[in-house]
Amino acid sequence: MKVAVLGAGVVGSATAYMLANDGHEVTVIDRRSRPGMETSFANGGLMTPSDSSPWNSPGTVRRLGKMLFDSHSTLKINPSAVPSIVGWGLKFLSNSTYARHKSNMIANIRIASLSLETLRSIRQTSTLNYDQTVRGTMRVFPRDGRMSEFVQMCREMQEWGVKFDVLNQEQILEKEPCLKDVIDRYIGAVFFPDDESGDAYKFTNEMARLATELGAQFLTNTTVLEIAKDFSTKISHVKTSKGDIQADAYVLSLGSYSPLLARPLGLRLPIIPVKGYSVTLPLNGWKGGPTRPVMDDGYHAMMVPMGDRLRMGGKAEFARYNTHIDPKEGRRVLNDVLKILPAMAAHVDVESALNWSGLRPMTPGGAPLVGLTPYSNLFLNTGHGPLGWTMSCGSAKITADLITHGRVLNNSVNPMDYAL
Ligand SMILES: Cc1cc2nc3c(=O)[nH]c(=O)nc-3n(C[C@H](O)[C@H](O)[C@H](O)COP(=O)(O)OP(=O)(O)OC[C@H]3O[C@@H](n4cnc5c(N)ncnc54)[C@H](O)[C@@H]3O)c2cc1C
Repeated sequence: MKVAVLGAGVVGSATAYMLANDGHEVTVIDRRSRPGMETSFANGGLMTPSDSSPWNSPGTVRRLGKMLFDSHSTLKINPSAVPSIVGWGLKFLSNSTYARHKSNMIANIRIASLSLETLRSIRQTSTLNYDQTVRGTMRVFPRDGRMSEFVQMCREMQEWGVKFDVLNQEQILEKEPCLKDVIDRYIGAVFFPDDESGDAYKFTNEMARLATELGAQFLTNTTVLEIAKDFSTKISHVKTSKGDIQADAYVLSLGSYSPLLARPLGLRLPIIPVKGYSVTLPLNGWKGGPTRPVMDDGYHAMMVPMGDRLRMGGKAEFARYNTHIDPKEGRRVLNDVLKILPAMAAHVDVESALNWSGLRPMTPGGAPLVGLTPYSNLFLNTGHGPLGWTMSCGSAKITADLITHGRVLNNSVNPMDYAL
């Protein structure tokens, strides 16, 4: 079957690989010069089924007002974005009941766990280089933090297969001696042994390489202008900046831009862009940092070793499609990390840090839209929010299974709900 995948981010590229592996003739269309140049470019690098709890847990919603007025908060709403997020925001709130949050969390865990399992089986047959670590991740908690609330949430996730261990100070230092200067700040940590990390951009290009080796074609520098339908409920072709492309099936994986192309078809996808920042610091051989991802729950700081670099990040900003990089945000992230790793400043040129911003394609429930649409040959694989890389291989497998075998994952999120 001829399949056109729209978008060569981590989600589209992994989907292309899975489809090519199933024997399809795959064409991937992307406006950039290489795969993975937009949101998949410099994300946090965490491959973490343990992060499956959506952002709108009942506790978060209680704290929302305080977060919006706290100048050090990781959440910001740009006033110009307010009109575009009102409807989405109401759906976000309606998904924040205990029951809805839990069902979205379970949907995420299932896709993220399938993703890890799928990735591990790909690694058994193909060598992939993406600065990966497979040493788990650790979240450390300050004394006045919310560790007990978090451990309670971990117990709920454990029922669905997410493994975790609670660590005391001594055990934290056994795993990450680099925290010795600040260990007294922490009351404890939660360690997730199955989590991994790496460079999502390199990974995306590894997926594209494997897909290409199986015959997939990547049409880069090619913008999708319109998804055209015929008089029935079928997609007839896509109009691109380089001419029309026809296929038997189409997969929509345009990240935050998916709703813009779906809307003229009468599909109202509840995805909005939520901007985030990352900072990447070349370490030039310095080995004094963490050996696995460490998240500080007090500073909301994330430190992810990535080869000879350290990736840091955070922040959620509602700013429509604005990807302007505010250097102050990068500096804030860096300053928080320097409080945790004070020795770093003496060994590394912190001025060489690279700032980046990207747009998370967020759904109000926090689970991605993967599956059927009212158009018999149009499939969704989009809206992965803060977990797109973590879920990429899983949702790619679900999409390929659906197109190849007609198999549908019994997922609590049904993309058909979003048809107009
Ligand atoms: C700061 C930050 C940190 C994050 N950290 C993590 C993390 O640690 N772990 C994790 O799992 N996830 C993380 N995420 C989320 C993750 O990066 C995203 O969910 C994921 O990259 C989305 O992938 P995608 O392929 O759907 O979208 P994208 O990577 O944006 O890909 C969409 C593609 O579509 C193309 N495109 C768009 N419109 C058109 C058009 N009209 N025509 C042709 N091509 C088009 C774009 O060029 C792009 O290549 C983070 C995100 C941010 C912003």
